[in-house]
Amino acid sequence: MMHDTRKSIRRETLLRVDNLVVEYSIAGNTVHAVSGVSLEVARGETLGLVGESGCGKSTLGRAILQLRRPVSGEVVFDGHDLVAMNGDTLRRMRRRVQLIFQDPIASLNPRRRIGDIVAEPLVIAGVKDRAERERRVHEVLSAVGLDPGLVAGRLPHEFSGGQCQRICIARALVLDPEFIICDEPVSALDVSIRAQILNLLEEMKARYGLTLLFIAHDLAVVKAVSDRVAVMYLGRLCEVGPSEQLFARPAHPYTALLIEAIPQPDPDVRPSESVPIGEPPSPISPPSGCRFRTRCPKADRRCIDEMPELVPIAPGQLVACHHPNF
Ligand code: ADP
Repeated sequence: MMHDTRKSIRRETLLRVDNLVVEYSIAGNTVHAVSGVSLEVARGETLGLVGESGCGKSTLGRAILQLRRPVSGEVVFDGHDLVAMNGDTLRRMRRRVQLIFQDPIASLNPRRRIGDIVAEPLVIAGVKDRAERERRVHEVLSAVGLDPGLVAGRLPHEFSGGQCQRICIARALVLDPEFIICDEPVSALDVSIRAQILNLLEEMKARYGLTLLFIAHDLAVVKAVSDRVAVMYLGRLCEVGPSEQLFARPAHPYTALLIEAIPQPDPDVRPSESVPIGEPPSPISPPSGCRFRTRCPKADRRCIDEMPELVPIAPGQLVACHHPNF
């Protein structure tokens, strides 16, 4: 047997999502938002989840936390299946997993002071000692680069979008979680602020030993922060792999098209003509077989008839395609 000499000994899996199905029902129709997604996140890593708006990324994030209950499948966090949990047991597990949203201003109660907003998860978790709560709030506000003495007594409208996202990050950190789902955390921010918030997330990850699921439609942002990337299309994963490898050698035609569509810093370099245009099909009646086939240059009869499963194509890289690029 070959001896594995790589330094990266397989790390412990903190989150495992297995064959997750999440649906909505609108006007008698079923929205197939997440249709059999499986993935793993190792402790300490950042998994980027990327795909066009509406492909099911937020739904997947919310279903991991059981904020939207899945139709079927498992969400195993640190060995416990959250889907099977209810009430207090689920609430206790949820403290270990926090969510940061896209719109920081909208996710802060406009009438509450910053100190109370950041302390709220501690109150809900039953931390009765006021001095202890204040100590924690002070610590996390300082950690995200805000002066607790200056900000704790103020209201959200006194802060910019970037500062509000810092406050949201502080609130997410206050219960000392292990896992944070960042759902488009910089999409609503000015371009000039984005790098600061991404750097802050990296710093917090290192300081508190966090594991991140980083959701974004913007591939360039995902590339900047992720160890591995999962590409989602119309409720299914089409490709998963180590970030650099996936960007250098995308196996799925959709991944390749997304990479080609990343805007170039040079205005004279135009994105390729082959980038899919128009809207993806509706998740109410997704295409048979491969869901990407209606926009795929390589689609043939097999893609109509047979749904491709995620299979290994290179070390650490999986693809769900009948005609991968290599
Ligand atoms: P993304 O995060 O990738 O933009 P979402 O998870 O928000 O995608 O949405 C996936 C699909 O589910 C979309 O078609 C969206 O319209 C639909 N959807 C999301 N939330 C709801 C809801 N509460 N009720 C009905 N449909 C929904």
